[in-house]
Amino acid sequence: MRSIEHFIDGKTVAGASGRHGDVFDPNSGSVQAKVSLASAAELDRAVASAAKAQADWAKVNPQRRARVMFEFKRLLEQNMDDLARLLSSEHGKVLSDARGDIQRGLEVIEFSCGIPHLLKGEYTQGAGPGIDVFSARQPLGVVAGITPFNFPAMIPMWMFGPAIACGNAFVLKPSERDPSVPVRLAELMIEAGLPEGVLNVVHGDREVVEAILKHPTIKAVSFVGSSDIAQHVYALGAQHGKRMQCMGGAKNHGIVLPDADLDRTVADVIGAAFGSAGERCMALPVVVPVGEATADALRGKLLDAIDALKIGVSTDPGAHYGPVVSAAHKARIEDYIRIGVEEGAELVRDGRGFALPGHEDGFFLGPSLFDRVTASMKTYRDEIFGPVLQIVRADSFEEALQLPSQHPYGNGVAIFTRNGEAAREFAERVEVGMVGINVPIPVPVAYHSFGGWKRSGFGDLNQYGIDGVRFFTRTKVVTQRWPKGGAVGEHAFVIPTMR
Ligand code: NAD
Repeated sequence: MRSIEHFIDGKTVAGASGRHGDVFDPNSGSVQAKVSLASAAELDRAVASAAKAQADWAKVNPQRRARVMFEFKRLLEQNMDDLARLLSSEHGKVLSDARGDIQRGLEVIEFSCGIPHLLKGEYTQGAGPGIDVFSARQPLGVVAGITPFNFPAMIPMWMFGPAIACGNAFVLKPSERDPSVPVRLAELMIEAGLPEGVLNVVHGDREVVEAILKHPTIKAVSFVGSSDIAQHVYALGAQHGKRMQCMGGAKNHGIVLPDADLDRTVADVIGAAFGSAGERCMALPVVVPVGEATADALRGKLLDAIDALKIGVSTDPGAHYGPVVSAAHKARIEDYIRIGVEEGAELVRDGRGFALPGHEDGFFLGPSLFDRVTASMKTYRDEIFGPVLQIVRADSFEEALQLPSQHPYGNGVAIFTRNGEAAREFAERVEVGMVGINVPIPVPVAYHSFGGWKRSGFGDLNQYGIDGVRFFTRTKVVTQRWPKGGAVGEHAFVIPTMR
């Protein structure tokens, strides 16, 4: 059976802990590979390699570091189809969506190509007599990233792109459920000219995550995953003196005002709710029509669209979505459907019991639709992370605005309307970090930054964009004086001021 090993100092390094995890083929339900799970000693080896490489990498001028990023972008494009196939075979998302996963990461690499400009500091000439002040952004040293299963290409690149371009060395701990693409990305970075040791991949579970959070050489940790773990990781890392940014789960709402173009809205909602089998932190699993007439019309059109969905293996070009990632995750989603029925929501379409002919053991689920879901239900408050769409009916704009605002998660939200005034007010008042106006999945482009509010994000700097550069650097401010000579003044015992 294929084994997936660590990537340290530019080489594949066989796991020595004796612990392994199963990597499934979600289409067939069978184990397709074993991944080594690292111990703290194996992490030490990766960190030592990173620390050694970082000192020289930080001295490489920013334009040369950017050239590595340009070459990596070219290699990503050249290898796009192979990477997408590998990604899809472990995650289960359809190939077109796997390409999107890689492409969105590639866009952060493109942003990172501009690092010479992004690292420029500020300068004030003549801040005092003969005094000039300038600031510089310097890398932190060795930094780490811990990533979730659902974007095995994009999210590692959100992190290591800016971090490495800024002059840091990086230790990546990808999800143990689909670990192959992150290793391939690291190999391509070396092929692009990155010195060995600047990017290392260490596989593992809780054990190695805790070791990362306590490691004295690691200066900052970027995490993306579910909220309870994000909060724990944030607290433990901070306790050990690290700079932390931890993105968590989500429950994004799509508000549908009575004047919305319903056909377009349904097309957007269906793609955002069921694409990637709902396993996206920016999925749209809750739709909030305003008014009974809007709700009834929307429900009818959603049903037509749901009944036309095609579920297939991830390599089927005609499939809208493929299997979910694991049997355990499938069982968890099915359990939420059961709870939804028990707590009184109306199950209009039930995706349980779906079997794809020839792939009966694959982790497939049909689409589910709940109507008359209310804000007090567990299935509304929790993140389900599967192909399950919930309709929560609201009587007014104000009620619709309050639903996402009062929800514990605050990642993304969308409003569908033709009314600019209402959309503007919604965007201004809603308590959510990323807002779409007639845009169902408002993931900011690479030169803005990504981050949710409330339980969707812990820490104050977001992912990629200028926040990514700030997260992976620290600012030094130099105040310099080059006196012309002449008389030396009195000793000054008071703090210098600009008076
Ligand atoms: P997860 O929280 O199970 O795992 C994330 C990472 O944490 C993995 O690398 C995993 O190995 C590690 N981990 C797991 N259990 C741990 C523990 N007890 N202690 C320490 N580390 C642990 O998340 P997942 O299932 O891989 O991904 C799905 C989740 O990620 C969803 O909640 C989704 O909303 C969220 N997500 C958020 C964003 C965002 O930017 N806000 C983006 C993508 C996914």
